Amino acid sequence: MRYIDRDEIARRLTYDRCIPIVRKAMIAFSTGETKQLLRSILPLSEGRLFGVMPGALGAHAPFGAKILSVFKDNAAKGKQSHQGVVLLFESDGGEPVCLLHAGEITAIRTAAASAVATDALARKDAKRLTILGTGEQAITHARAISKVRQVETLVVWGRSVDRAQKLSEKMRAELGIETIVAPTTRVAVVDADIVCTVTSAIEPILEGKWLRPGTHINIVGSSYAGPVEVDNETVARSRFYVDSREGVLAQGAEFLSAKKAGLVADDHIVGEIGEVLAGRVEGRRSTDEITAYKSLGHIAQDLASAWALYSENG
Ligand code: NDP
Repeated sequence: MRYIDRDEIARRLTYDRCIPIVRKAMIAFSTGETKQLLRSILPLSEGRLFGVMPGALGAHAPFGAKILSVFKDNAAKGKQSHQGVVLLFESDGGEPVCLLHAGEITAIRTAAASAVATDALARKDAKRLTILGTGEQAITHARAISKVRQVETLVVWGRSVDRAQKLSEKMRAELGIETIVAPTTRVAVVDADIVCTVTSAIEPILEGKWLRPGTHINIVGSSYAGPVEVDNETVARSRFYVDSREGVLAQGAEFLSAKKAGLVADDHIVGEIGEVLAGRVEGRRSTDEITAYKSLGHIAQDLASAWALYSENG
C-alpha cells in the first residue's frame, strides 16, 4: 500500500489546490452526496484524545477514515498536535490503497476550510486579519486566508509574547505584509475584518462585545463538546454558519454553551457553509453584519484531499 508522508503532502497540497478541493467537498457534504458517521472521540486523559472519523465521498466513491490522536502538549515538544493516518479505500473492489500522514492533511485542510468560509462570508474589502493562537493552525490560517482576501495587515496574539513575536516575523517574511503583535485579545480583534481563533483554550479568550460590525470570525480551535474558545455573546451576536449542522448541534462547544444559556436556539444556525456555496442559503446580507463560521473539521475534507493526492499527478 502506498504511503504519502508529511513532506510530500506539504509540497503537493498547496492552498491553491486544497481550497477548491475543500469547497467542492463541503458542497457535496451539504447536498447529501457524501456519507459519514459522527466522529468518535475517546478521551485518554487530560488534554489527550483519540479520534476516529469515518466517511465516504459518495455511494460509489472513495471512502475511508482518519484515525488520530490529539495531544495538547505536543507543540511544546516540537510535535504536531494531531498525529495519525488517513486510510483511503477505492470503490471498485473496496481495497485499501493508501495511507497518508493525517497531521499534515489536517493542518492544511482546516485552514483551507476557513479560507473557503471566509471567501463566502467575509466582506470583499476585508484587509485586516487577526489570528488568536501561535501554533500550527495559526501559520496555516495566515497562509490560507491570504489566498482569498487582499490581507494588508496580520495581527497576531498569543499567550506567549515570544511565540507571537516569532510567528509575526515568520509571516511578515513569508507573506510580505505588515504584521503586528497585539498585547491582548481585545486589542487584537477590535479593528479586525477577519478573526481566526486557533487556540487550545478551554475557556473563552474572546468576548463578542469586542467585535466591530462587519467582522467575519472563524471559530476553529475547539473541535468537540468541551473547550469553549469564544463567549456566548460572540455566538449570539453573529450570523452563525457551521461546517456540519448535525456536528455542531452535537459537538460545537460554543454554540451549545450559548444555547444552554438560553441565548440562542437551534435555528440560530443559519446554514452549513456547503449550503451557502450551493446557493441554497443566503450568506452575508450587509457590510455591517458579524458573520461566524464554526469549524469542527470534517472527514469529507480529509478524504477529498487524500484522494486528490493519491489519484492525481502534481
Ligand atoms: P498547537 O498545539 O500547535 O497550538 C495551540 C495554540 O493554542 C498555541 O498557540 C497555544 O499557546 C494556544 N493555547 C493553548 N492553551 C491556551 C489557552 N488556555 N489560552 C490561549 N491560548 C492557548 O495546535 P494547532 O495549531 O494544531 O491547533 C490549534 C487548535 O485547533 C487545537 O485546539 C486543535 O485541536 C484545533 N484544531 C481544530 C481543527 C478543526 O478542524 N476545527 C483541526 C485541527 C486543529 P502556547 O504556545 O502558549 O501553549
